[in-house]
Amino acid sequence: MTETEIRQTAEQIAERFSEQADVSVDDVEERLQNLVEEYKVPMDEARRSVTSHFAKETGVSRDELGSEGSENATVAQIDTPEEWLTVDVKVAELWEPSSDSIAQTGLVGDETGTIKFTSWAKSDVPTLEEGATYRLQNVVTDEFQGRMSVKLNSSTEVEEIDAEIEVGEQEIEVEGALVAVQSGSGLIKRCPEDDCTRVLQNGRCSEHGEVEGEFDMRVKGVLDDGNETYDVLLDREATERVTGIEMEEAKQEAMDALDTSVVTDRIKSLLVGRYFRVEGPRVGRYVLGDDVEEVDETPDADALLMEARSA
Ligand SMILES: [Zn+2]
Repeated sequence: MTETEIRQTAEQIAERFSEQADVSVDDVEERLQNLVEEYKVPMDEARRSVTSHFAKETGVSRDELGSEGSENATVAQIDTPEEWLTVDVKVAELWEPSSDSIAQTGLVGDETGTIKFTSWAKSDVPTLEEGATYRLQNVVTDEFQGRMSVKLNSSTEVEEIDAEIEVGEQEIEVEGALVAVQSGSGLIKRCPEDDCTRVLQNGRCSEHGEVEGEFDMRVKGVLDDGNETYDVLLDREATERVTGIEMEEAKQEAMDALDTSVVTDRIKSLLVGRYFRVEGPRVGRYVLGDDVEEVDETPDADALLMEARSA
């Protein structure tokens, strides 16, 4: 975390108070710095903690606070609750609200996927039309039972935009030749912090720094169905099943060779050229291969595989 990032975050926090109270950027920065650098609190958490500290100190309630500078995000990027974001989305479905406190609820989406949205009756948000496309500025993310959603609130700005958005399907099934196994496949280590699970690079988590990682296995592959290529991501279970390599065995191999790339290489030689049907949710550019099985080759995919090999 750089000094500039801390300063910028401090400015954003102070700005949220600017209409109600006088909060100095320096005071905010000092507190943030202390949490982030001294106590290694992740930035998101530090931001929340410092914001509520100054809310208490100034007597400004959360509702009165201005919104945070909200970043643009795609639906697939939404993975953390309590973030303020801007999304360009199409209204895919409207549902019957389950209570009077909800003005509207349904699904919005972009090319990367769909997400539930809710707007509260008391927030007075403009009504969204099914099939229309909007820029929603300052929505806040939420998580319930592991599923993310966005909430439209009184600081949300709704603007209808003239954009062609094809809403990404949630579940897809692809069948084709596995033409590549990408780096980052095989034995990996993940951050052990709660709800983090980021893949470590040289023993470091991009959010939590140096940590004692936990082993995991996966395949990041490219599946070609003859028309299109898909990035498929297989989790440990699927990886063990299609490769026949148990994680313990992979760990032993990597330890003997003092190198995890032996596992990646072996997975490559085992999988490339075989045909699979992969079924699962599409998240961003990845199809999460919850369900994967080997299939007989199809002539189309075979021709493409030849091409891929000679390329
Ligand atoms: Zn982490």
